[in-house]
Amino acid sequence: MSDADVIVIGGGPSGVAAAVELRRHGVERVMLLDREPHLGGATRHCSHSPFGMREFGRVYFGAAYGRRLESEAARAGVDVRTGHSVVRLLDGGRIDVTSERGVGRLSARRLMIATGAREAPRSARLISGDRPVGVLTTGSLQSYVAFHGLMPFRRPVIVGSELVTLSAIATCLSHGARPVAVVEPEPMARVRAPLSWFPSVMGIPFRRGAELIDIRGAARVEDVTLRHRDGTLETLACDGVLLTGRFVPESALLLQSRIGVDTGSAGPAIDQDGRSLDPLLFASGNVLRAVETGGWAFREGRAIGRAIAEDLARDAGAAAPILVSHDPPIKLVVPSLLRRGANGSPALREFQLRVTRRAQGRLSLQLDGRDVWSTDGIWGPERRILVPMPLAATEAQTVHFRFQERV
Ligand SMILES: Cc1cc2nc3c(=O)[nH]c(=O)nc-3n(C[C@H](O)[C@H](O)[C@H](O)COP(=O)(O)OP(=O)(O)OC[C@H]3O[C@@H](n4cnc5c(N)ncnc54)[C@H](O)[C@@H]3O)c2cc1C
Repeated sequence: MSDADVIVIGGGPSGVAAAVELRRHGVERVMLLDREPHLGGATRHCSHSPFGMREFGRVYFGAAYGRRLESEAARAGVDVRTGHSVVRLLDGGRIDVTSERGVGRLSARRLMIATGAREAPRSARLISGDRPVGVLTTGSLQSYVAFHGLMPFRRPVIVGSELVTLSAIATCLSHGARPVAVVEPEPMARVRAPLSWFPSVMGIPFRRGAELIDIRGAARVEDVTLRHRDGTLETLACDGVLLTGRFVPESALLLQSRIGVDTGSAGPAIDQDGRSLDPLLFASGNVLRAVETGGWAFREGRAIGRAIAEDLARDAGAAAPILVSHDPPIKLVVPSLLRRGANGSPALREFQLRVTRRAQGRLSLQLDGRDVWSTDGIWGPERRILVPMPLAATEAQTVHFRFQERV
């Protein structure tokens, strides 16, 4: 007999929402594993709001929201096991787990992976120069501040202009640091106005179209070099570099498994119910694609948790999936698989798309070669694009997103 009906890996908003929903639907044995000492995921170190408005009807700061998730899981009767790190996904609903008790194997009738996403560190961004102390991502900065009461710099340069950059600025300003500049390689901010005005409103110079190419410093960061679009170089004195955004799904477990990851999203390919290529494995939250808000991850987890409960009740197996294809510059489509007749009311009712670069043109959805939906627009990278999923999509032989670019 298996150790649980469902094991959820990752206790952030998505994993907790799925686990609670499974219990609500009468699934008896729901186990939730997280490697950290508490549930809450990335929200735990956010010393700012807003979290929880849609799911709990009130605004929480990150840490308080994490505690609310923890109490929701306990109240629902979820078997929560923190300090448990999943190190391997195996076939047949089995996983290897490490904890203070050593390495063990657990099995379940269904697995769900909700391991979130992380910001690209310096190594992944290939920034050259010295290797001084003081180069961090927003998540690491917030962990220093929230869990250790440490502010590692006073005058950092902030790289990036996504939503999370606002969180980085807020953390700096509320803990005695004054950013020297915000630097964005694209000519425009990645976040929409009015949020894109935030650095300037706070009196922080915003260098658009500039790339950080060098970091210098012996022990600590002393200065950085920027290259502007016209080729000119600029040196900024600073004592730290804060790398924000450029999230990638936390998919190490999948890369080592038989399933692998989708080349566009870098997370697991899933169908309209969150089911992966392995019929026993589901996924939800930011591991599916970088990156969404806490509320989005929560709602996705809840919907896919319900789909898993229905799947357990039916226990009818899963059809072979078809692949949703797309033209460039579309980077990813979630879900990127569709299964015929899986469920009359799918967990995901929209396709979510992202583009690799700023692009203008006509986006259309084709089922069996015929346009069933289209729109004209301009889209930037990291911006969410939602396309309603027609029910007929799950009956089609081919599903394709076409992009006709207008220059
Ligand atoms: C700096 C920052 C600021 C943000 N600010 C906001 C905001 O103001 N408002 C908002 O709505 N959203 C905000 N977000 C986004 C929000 O935090 C995420 O959307 C949300 O936490 C994603 O939920 P998730 O469940 O998908 O993943 P996560 O919250 O990342 O949770 C994943 C969990 O999986 C666990 N895990 C990973 N691998 C393993 C493994 N192998 N074994 C066991 N456990 C594992 C991790 O420990 C973690 O607890 C912010 C994010 C960041 C990084």
